[in-house]
Amino acid sequence: MRIDIVSVFPEYFDVLNLSLFGKAQAKGLLEVATHNLRDWTHDVHHSVDDTPVGGGAGMVMKPEVWAECLDELLGPDELLGSQPSVLIFPNPSAPLFTQRDATELSRASHLLFGCGRYEGYDARIPEYYRAQGVDVREYSIGDYVLNGGEVATSVMLEAITRLIPDFMGNPESIVEESYTGEGALLEHRQYTKPAEWRGLRVPDVLLSGDHGKVDRFRRDEALARTDKIRPDLIETLDCTQLDKADRKT
Ligand code: SAM
Repeated sequence: MRIDIVSVFPEYFDVLNLSLFGKAQAKGLLEVATHNLRDWTHDVHHSVDDTPVGGGAGMVMKPEVWAECLDELLGPDELLGSQPSVLIFPNPSAPLFTQRDATELSRASHLLFGCGRYEGYDARIPEYYRAQGVDVREYSIGDYVLNGGEVATSVMLEAITRLIPDFMGNPESIVEESYTGEGALLEHRQYTKPAEWRGLRVPDVLLSGDHGKVDRFRRDEALARTDKIRPDLIETLDCTQLDKADRKT
């Protein structure tokens, strides 16, 4: 997967050389390039923003600078709609980014992230590229406002790339996780050894060696925790996503 990130603070992404993300680049699974939006400015101050039309506080990112940058990074083929790039703008007033989006985007061959700053970017930027046939997404990572799109991009990138085959050392570790698969629930709680620590015991069933009972216990716990913490996820389950024992609880 090729990943391009545009930001006025590209140094934010120096951390991408660490940990599993760094290893994935070394293995050739990911090819990552960061770009400074100011490299596409022509004025002496390298301005990327201007005052909001209609008045109001703060500054808005200018469409001309973004367009010069995005035209170059997408290339002429993409602008003719023949390359499978996905152009992603983090935006607090967009639909929420979910595990489902991460799964879909983990199959893309090229992701291009545009990090907003200030009061955000001119609304015509995503509108223009959508009209050119580019697959444009705007996502919020949560109901709060950050200073810029860099952290939101890092969050989405981590969620997406860990789902790429061979990214994780142990691929099994992404199969049974919160929000994952059909009828996604929150995961059951996890324990390691020792069986008793500071007077707190691991549930006996987990020590029983009976895999059927362990699976049932974990499934029940996942359902109970999801019902308590995220009842909205339970409401979206249909009866095909419940087993016989679930329906009794
Ligand atoms: N004026 C905007 C509003 O109220 O919706 C907030 C702009 S914010 C200060 C600047 C940039 O940070 C946004 O353009 C976006 O790129 C990023 N950002 C902030 N919060 C975000 C969130 N929750 N999810 C995704 N991106 C976010």
